Amino acid sequence: MSMLEVKCLCKSFGELAVLENVNLTVEEGECIALIGSSGCGKSTFLRSLELLEVPDKGSIAIAGQEITAPQAEVDLIRRQMGMVYQNFFLFSHLNVMDNLCLAPVKLLGMSREEAEAKAKGLLAQVGLLAKAEAYPEVLSGGQQQRIAICRSLMMEPKLLLFDEPTSALDPTMVGEVLAVIRMLARQGLTMLIVTHEMNFAREVADRVLFFAEQGIYEEGTPEEIFEHPQKPKTIAFIQRQKSFRYEVRERTFDLMEMQGGIMTFGEKYGLSSKDDLRLQLCCEETVCAVLEGCYGKDEPVLLDVEVFYREADKEIEVVFEYRGKQYHPLEDEMGVEDEDEVAFSSAAILKNIVSVLSYSYEQGKNQLRMRLKKHI
Ligand code: ADP
Ligand code: MG
Repeated sequence: MSMLEVKCLCKSFGELAVLENVNLTVEEGECIALIGSSGCGKSTFLRSLELLEVPDKGSIAIAGQEITAPQAEVDLIRRQMGMVYQNFFLFSHLNVMDNLCLAPVKLLGMSREEAEAKAKGLLAQVGLLAKAEAYPEVLSGGQQQRIAICRSLMMEPKLLLFDEPTSALDPTMVGEVLAVIRMLARQGLTMLIVTHEMNFAREVADRVLFFAEQGIYEEGTPEEIFEHPQKPKTIAFIQRQKSFRYEVRERTFDLMEMQGGIMTFGEKYGLSSKDDLRLQLCCEETVCAVLEGCYGKDEPVLLDVEVFYREADKEIEVVFEYRGKQYHPLEDEMGVEDEDEVAFSSAAILKNIVSVLSYSYEQGKNQLRMRLKKHI
């Protein structure tokens, strides 16, 4: 028997069709990652499973029990699912132990002793046994989210649903929450996880669903979706995930911030320090040249830098998009024969490290695409 069986699920909000004929079967022990652009219906899908959004059409069965059936005991079936949200929603007036024991005692008729023993076991697993008597306000966001996960587990759900469980967290606390989810995946819990953490999705999921166009647009193993996506929207989405974007909006932009972002990007993909420096140099020189050549003193600056790394062939590409007059910073210098003349200009520096792939100017927008030369 499948843990989840969704058939022809449809959901609209007024005129807006969010889900159209979504089908999904999840087997026991599977860990599924749901990815996709913001607003594509991932949360609506998860919420529909619990009937927090009432589907317009279709059926949903949890461990063989159809929650959408006319006579369904919705509350009972809902208890088979645990949901963990971005915001942890712990009861602030209850300490950790009471937060964990409340529902199982009240709804499942567990004895308080039994519930406490179970809670202690779970707290130990997530490394928070020492906080059993603490109130939520003294805990960090990461600790609160780990408690929220324990609270869901107290009900022994057959299916755990996570909706961007790390999105509201300070970046330093993302790791501890992902570690707990990873542990649950290893224990064989059946889970659906909406996440923006692509590396995590890739590592933990058995199957990845990419949502677009009112449903599951493409699905596959992490390898298939992240390395060999087949359909255009998946390809574009995955490519964007592997990019670093920086917006320059002032002549006196924060160079250190841009360089820092590039370094973080480089670390993520294991770029050599040499490539990393050349990438920084390329961005700095080009941004400065564009600011000089394209914008007058008080003109508003609209310049976007986006860095892409293609793991397949290790190519690094940078795209500069800037509104304003037509301006190609390398146009003149690239053709100059006499090397000495341009030896110290930014163009000369750039010429050594990049090749220009394309330049275009359309409707007030310059687009300059460069590729980092592979060093010898
Ligand atoms: P995601 O979680 O993928 O970012 P959502 O499922 O939250 O996307 O939203 C999908 C679309 O449905 C969005 O356009 C959103 O504005 C819309 N939407 C979500 N909930 C409601 C609602 N209760 N009423 C009206 N529109 C909604
Ligand atoms: Mg959402």
